[in-house]
Amino acid sequence: MKLRDAHLRRMRDGTFDTLVIGGGINGAVTAASLAGRGASVALIDRGDFANFTSQASSNLVWGGFKYLENLEFYLVWTLCRSRNRLMRAYPDNIKEIAFYAALDKAARYKPWFAGLGAFGYWVIGQFGTKRPPLLNRAKIEREEPAIDTSNVRGGIEYHDGLLVDNDARFVFSFVRSAIEAGAAAANYVELVSATREAGRWVARLRDVDSGDEFTTTASTIVNAAGPFVDELNREWGLSSEHRIVYSKGIHLVVPRLTTTDHHKVLAFFDDTQRLFYVIPMGRRSVIGTTDTRVDSPFTETTEDDIEFLLEQINARMDLDQPLSRGDVIADRCGVRPLVVKVGAGDQSEVDWTKLSRKHAIEVDPAQRVVTIFGGKLTDCLNVGEEVAEQIEGLGIPLEEDLHNWFGEPAAATRAEFVRQARLMRLDGFRTKADTEPLTDRLWRRYGRRAFAMLDAIREDPAMAEDVMGSADYLRVELHTAAQSEMVTKLEDFTRRRSKIDLVVPRADIESSPGLREVAEILFGTDADRRLAEYFGGDDLVPAAVRPPSADIEA
Ligand SMILES: Cc1cc2nc3c(=O)[nH]c(=O)nc-3n(C[C@H](O)[C@H](O)[C@H](O)COP(=O)(O)OP(=O)(O)OC[C@H]3O[C@@H](n4cnc5c(N)ncnc54)[C@H](O)[C@@H]3O)c2cc1C
Repeated sequence: MKLRDAHLRRMRDGTFDTLVIGGGINGAVTAASLAGRGASVALIDRGDFANFTSQASSNLVWGGFKYLENLEFYLVWTLCRSRNRLMRAYPDNIKEIAFYAALDKAARYKPWFAGLGAFGYWVIGQFGTKRPPLLNRAKIEREEPAIDTSNVRGGIEYHDGLLVDNDARFVFSFVRSAIEAGAAAANYVELVSATREAGRWVARLRDVDSGDEFTTTASTIVNAAGPFVDELNREWGLSSEHRIVYSKGIHLVVPRLTTTDHHKVLAFFDDTQRLFYVIPMGRRSVIGTTDTRVDSPFTETTEDDIEFLLEQINARMDLDQPLSRGDVIADRCGVRPLVVKVGAGDQSEVDWTKLSRKHAIEVDPAQRVVTIFGGKLTDCLNVGEEVAEQIEGLGIPLEEDLHNWFGEPAAATRAEFVRQARLMRLDGFRTKADTEPLTDRLWRRYGRRAFAMLDAIREDPAMAEDVMGSADYLRVELHTAAQSEMVTKLEDFTRRRSKIDLVVPRADIESSPGLREVAEILFGTDADRRLAEYFGGDDLVPAAVRPPSADIEA
């Protein structure tokens, strides 16, 4: 909590060039790009960073093959360019992955036509990925026997990018970058009100964790509240050319469905002829997503949603046992904030899935507010750059963009890390053969911070032990998270900095004594309060996680 306290102190009565509201991907890249170019920036989110839409994505960095169906060639070209740029900047965090689409007899497109589409996608994608190979039924059967090929006429393969960890952790990497460039950033800080006084914004902020209220002032505001941007603009009396509508999407996390070692995304057309995917997540598979019009940004996965996806997947895969409700380890649910023009009429009439996924950035020069409508994780670098241009236009001087506010450290730094890790035989500490080498994992997750982790392990080899049985987190990772990842609540770590809540069954979490140590490292003397908060009450904390003395009393 020390990191957060320090940042709250800087915000209290602080004076900034820009206050960024919303710590999803759009707010995080904005803060990183502005701070990286010398602006003084404050970034707040009323929940944890990436607690809303940006933790519910498919984790794909992609050009949107399916948008070709809507003939959105320019959008696909732009997204592919953003994808290629991100894949180059994050070679360890974003990996190229093959999408393997089996087309059955009911599919909307014949394999030759879909194959043409895959080739076109590769060309529009500026040849940024491997060339799509031809795929036939025999090859599908050979390479992925888990696909039910009884009705399959053929297939296609094309390539895009996958975030190896998760979307929320990727968002946090931009928050870290903003912090390292001098921004003040705090999670669980809500904007209560903002008024214009003597040419500046005076913002009343509330620390949601403690209830304290304080004031900060800024010359400009960036409204990056995702699904809530219209609400904020209305409160400030701003009118805009665009507004947001919501499309709900869910994912189910289940035990790994693919039977081969091939690391691929499987793509299928569902009964409504919409593409959905089976996406790898370590030793799990993620099935999704759906696309349903909703009127509120607050949604949850319903039993009908789950039944629909399970039915779709069971009809298309040749599994030893059909998937059932009991196989669902976790679900993810969110709304895509989609942009429409104000006055474009009643959107309930349009085909929801055909609404464009473009973002729009609007500036109100009189009120000095920049609003980001919509967007995708994939397009984040463009958003960061476009917002910076608008802020500069409002008279905030920015340094030249050297593009050093994003990306992984240089290849030479990585090579030095790998050398040091090899010399100390880091990978020998791995206890589970089916997990990735520790060298890769620590570098990808922590970048330069991983050097200090090697020091800590050299000093105390117990730092390289897994803390929670099936969760794949070393003790040293917890210490790093406690110091530098602004973990305020236990769920911030289990759901967003890590993906424990997504990949470890709830029963395993509840019976893991290691969770207590996780809380103690992260929160020290506050561990019991945070555990009770995580489980929903003191009396709901499972026996395995309670302090030993509490067991004796019980
Ligand atoms: C199901 C699904 C699948 C997707 N898959 C992909 C994909 O594979 N690839 C891809 O590129 N994109 C994908 N997307 C799109 C992408 O996830 C979103 O476009 C993106 O996350 C939106 O980010 P954001 O920052 O605009 O919004 P958010 O992440 O929602 O962030 C807005 C933040 O503002 C905060 N906030 C709101 N009001 C206040 C206030 N008053 N004070 C303080 N904070 C406030 C909220 O707490 C929230 O954290 C997907 C989206 C969904 C729903």
